[in-house]
Parts: sequence; structure tokens; C-alpha cells
Amino acid sequence: MEKLIVIRYAELSTKKSNINQFINKLKENISYALEGIDNTIYFDKGRMFIETNDYEECVNRLKSIFGIQGIILSYKINSDENEIKDCVLKLLKDKKFKTFKVTTKRSYKNFPINSMDFSRQIGAHILKNINNLSVDVNNPELLVSIEIRKDNTYIYLDEIKGLGGYPVGVSGKGLLMLSGGIDSPVAGYLAMKRGIRLEAIYFAAPPHTSDEALEKVKTLAKKLALYNHNIKLHVINFTEIEETIYKDIPRDYLITIMRRMMYRISTKIAYKNKLKCLINGESVGQVASQTLSSMQVINEVTKMPVIRPVVCFDKLEIIDLAQKINTYETSILPFIDCCTIFVPKHPVINPESNKCEEYEKLIDWENMIDKAIENEEIIKIKVNENQEYEDLL
Ligand code: ATP
Ligand code: MG
Repeated sequence: MEKLIVIRYAELSTKKSNINQFINKLKENISYALEGIDNTIYFDKGRMFIETNDYEECVNRLKSIFGIQGIILSYKINSDENEIKDCVLKLLKDKKFKTFKVTTKRSYKNFPINSMDFSRQIGAHILKNINNLSVDVNNPELLVSIEIRKDNTYIYLDEIKGLGGYPVGVSGKGLLMLSGGIDSPVAGYLAMKRGIRLEAIYFAAPPHTSDEALEKVKTLAKKLALYNHNIKLHVINFTEIEETIYKDIPRDYLITIMRRMMYRISTKIAYKNKLKCLINGESVGQVASQTLSSMQVINEVTKMPVIRPVVCFDKLEIIDLAQKINTYETSILPFIDCCTIFVPKHPVINPESNKCEEYEKLIDWENMIDKAIENEEIIKIKVNENQEYEDLL
């Protein structure tokens, strides 16, 4: 009997027309993730199969790939009744359990016994050959799954839950506005779950923001890169824009206009890099710039779709996810962000677009934006140092 990993696809049912695209992207992403481990991958429309000599590491890496519903360590044998019976006994021999259940799925309809009968037969065979066991169909300690296909039968005992979602890249690429806060990494994670591959943009305002703040954002990007293969991080120097706004624009509109500038720059960077949307960590009502009126006035400066995955989450839900994806500890490190340093005491909660336009005439923002984009620094974030950096679709 041959040992192999079987992968159950996630959410394929809703993707009937693009099934090939989904599977090919998943295979590509798995190949990237398994770099450095000996592996062979093959697939059909129902499952993907991986042969490797390092099952443990392989399973470990598969746990951070979107598009996988279940990871199953499985045994491949011929679709032959006696061979199946022998194999099941061999696998159960060293396992510690008292109750079990057998399920059979028969996609090969020429197999002479139907699924229900076959499960019963195998159950009886187990009871006859191993002492002190009983069948529990509702809550078994061990589930024995048998999948009978035309060429081969797969037997497996446990299934590890995958991340679900769509393979990263099937939905195209987007630009994550990545601050050092709690919300934006979570937003990035959720966007990747929908199959969007990320590039990231960070607005730095040195010397008001420190090198440590940038390091923090790089650490967060690296944590997200685990799901994305790698991340191109665009670092924009926002100092001139921010200082000019601070100097020339009424204080209560400072944040609104600063954020309009961020949106404008992000939009230009997105078009330049063929990215199809902006993604950020805004959540309705969280701060003055995230009231619906603020969001409307800020959103006016872009035609790009703006995806806000955590828009309706409350802070505790966001923190919960941040802890799960291991970004929380980094996010709460206390380095000043470019927005926090200039925050006015009373930011406007219901800004008006005509006022924004009027105030923006006071500064030469078009030139400052172009200059900031010209001087962007690109940092290529890799999950580990040995890896080759590649721009992926
Ligand atoms: P976060 O916890 O993600 O920083 P926040 O609650 O601090 O969010 P804001 O500072 O108002 O909220 O920012 C809202 C969103 O705008 C952030 O989630 C992020 O997507 C984007 N953003 C804010 N500051 C920056 C920055 N310096 N660089 C890039 N994006 C930023
Ligand atoms: Mg923030």
C-alpha cells in the first residue's frame, strides 16, 4: 500500500465554470509552498494527491494554503475487496480506540457492492478481527473512510481541517493598505481567503515615524506572506504631504484630507502595478475617519473598488482573528504611526466634499503625490531567506 496526501478542495461547488482555473492555481500555490521538499503532485476534478518523503513538513505547509478544505493522510490500494479488508486491519492494528464507524464513498459504480453494504461488511470484518470494539455511528472515536474509485481505492482515518477559501491569485491581485495596526493585517488575510493575491502599501513619515515602525510593518507583511508566497511592499514617504496638510489646512479636516491623499496614491500605485482593488482595515464607526460620512467623502477620490473585509466586525472579533493568524502580538507593539502623530483633538465627523475640495486647493497636492510615487521604495518580503522572490499573478 502506498502512502499519500489527499487534498479536498474548498468551495469548488460555487466555481463550476472556473474549476480548472481553481485547480491549476491551487497546484501552483502548493508547488511554491513545498519548495525544498521532495514532492509529486497530481490531481483530478475531485481531489489533489501529493507524494512526498516528508509527510509531516508537507502537511504543516499545506495548513497555510487557501483553497484546501481538508488534508488527509491516506493509503492507496487497488479497488479490490480483499485488499481493502486487509489494509483496513493493518491500519487499525496499532490505533488506540474503542468505538468506530466506517463510511464508504463509491464513485466507481462497477464495484460490485454498494456503499452501505460495503461499510457494514468492513465494520463486521473489523469487529471479528479486533477485540473489544463497538460501532458508534453518531459519535465514533475513529472514523474509517473508504473511497472507491475506478483505478484505486483510498483509505484514511483522520482529516486535518484546511483553511478553506479560494486559492490565492484566482481572483486577481489587490493592494492592501498596511498600517502597523491590528485591523489591516486581518483585512489582508481575509482578502487572500477570497483568492486575492496581495501587494501592500505603507505610508511612512520619517522622522515623525521611526525605523522600528517600518520594521513592524515588514514583520506583519512577512506573516501575511506565508499565505501569499511573498509580498511586494511599496513604502511611500508621506512626510512632505503630511507636514503641508498640517501647516495649511484647517485642523478638523486634517485626517479626512490625509486619507484622501492616501487613497489617491494607493489608486495610482494600483493602476501602475495592474492591481484591481484597494483593501484596507476600515471598520464602520471605529474612529472619526470611519463614520459613513467620512468614508463617503474619502472614497470619492477613487474609482477603484475598495474592499474592507472587517467593515462590520467589532474590535473583539478583529482581535480574535489577529490572534489566530499570529499578527496581534506584532500589531500591539507601541510604535507611532503616521496618522496617530498628527491626530487633531476634534476631527470632523461629518466632512463635506466641497470643503475638502476647497481646502485641497490650498496645497499643491498633485505634484507632491507624483513625487512621493516616484520616490517609492519597494521591499520584497519573503517568508524565508532561501526562497527566490518572484512576482506572481
Ligand atoms: P489599523 O489597526 O489597521 O491601523 P486603525 O483602526 O488604526 O486601523 P486607521 O488608522 O484609521 O484605523 O486606518 C484605517 C485603515 O487605513 C487601516 O486599517 C489601513 O488599511 C489604512 N492605513 C492607515 N494608516 C496607514 C499607513 N500608515 N499606511 C498604510 N495604510 C494605512
Ligand atoms: Mg492604524
